[in-house]
Amino acid sequence: VRDLTVAFDAGRAMGWRRRTATAVDHVSLDVRPGETLGLVGESGSGKSTTGRAILRLVDVTSGTIDFDGVDVTKLGHRTPLSYRRAVQAVFQDPLASLNPRHVVSSAVTTSLHRHGIGDRSERTDRAADAFERVGLSRAHLNRYPAELSGGQRQRVAIARALALEPRLVVCDEAVSALDLSTQSQIINLLADLQQSTGMSYLFIAHDLGVTRHISDRIAVLLGGRLVETAPTAQLFASPRHPYTRALIAASPASHPEGRDRRRARRAAHRHGRRDEAIPRGLPGCPFRNRCDRVMDVCHTVTPPLQLLDDGSKVACHLYEDGARA
Ligand code: SF4
Ligand code: MG
Repeated sequence: VRDLTVAFDAGRAMGWRRRTATAVDHVSLDVRPGETLGLVGESGSGKSTTGRAILRLVDVTSGTIDFDGVDVTKLGHRTPLSYRRAVQAVFQDPLASLNPRHVVSSAVTTSLHRHGIGDRSERTDRAADAFERVGLSRAHLNRYPAELSGGQRQRVAIARALALEPRLVVCDEAVSALDLSTQSQIINLLADLQQSTGMSYLFIAHDLGVTRHISDRIAVLLGGRLVETAPTAQLFASPRHPYTRALIAASPASHPEGRDRRRARRAAHRHGRRDEAIPRGLPGCPFRNRCDRVMDVCHTVTPPLQLLDDGSKVACHLYEDGARA
């Protein structure tokens, strides 16, 4: 993904004069074969829109998305079946994407049918195979979505993606609605499936703790901009951007004790959930209203993403010219 910008025409729908809202602002990132890139940030940071642009569910304003050397933003409105098959999605709420009146195996067979794969009996076999690989038994095939737990429904959603043998799966808050132990089961399942298939994940989540366990690298978005990216261990060991530091401090996963959880909640509260005061698409740092190290330059100049000598990238004026903060 190079210089991806997605701007919505926000005003028209509201009956105002034409105005645009920049959801994603010149974001560049790579997902390599067989790896997981975690994409984290608070709500409204642009992470879902980035995923949806890759899935071709939203129109791209500018920038390129290369897949196997083809810029998929130039494909026009009809996305080729081969790309739609190669890039699959698992979203937060499988109930919303499963037909309540159909048994769950039909979620898989219908998707195979839509992609022109196999005859009826082959599709049934493939569905059974995909169910087995995600840890669901044959008995689950003929259940209705409402008869399954949240974790089982998410396994169905993964089976549906898996049956198409994708190269990349965009997981958008795929475990966020699940309880902690189910979350780790699904994360382990995704990791196992990646081992056996070599597929890549773009793992989108607001929670750094969840992302940590599955991601090889993590990219942090804020206000539609990429503010830091680094290998996972390095990001946690030496976060550079003040926003990343705040995110880690506020993550319950980094505070296992109850007392520290309370401290984390207070830290999260202090740093605020959103930054409504800062308009999008204007110069300046998207964290300037909340940063305790803010400088004059942060209000007027957008910090460029810079490569540091340890291989991480950070967009913050504290690191200008390779300086260490
Ligand atoms: Fe803080 Fe300025 Fe760095 Fe933004 S650019 S994170 S406001 S120091
Ligand atoms: Mg989202």
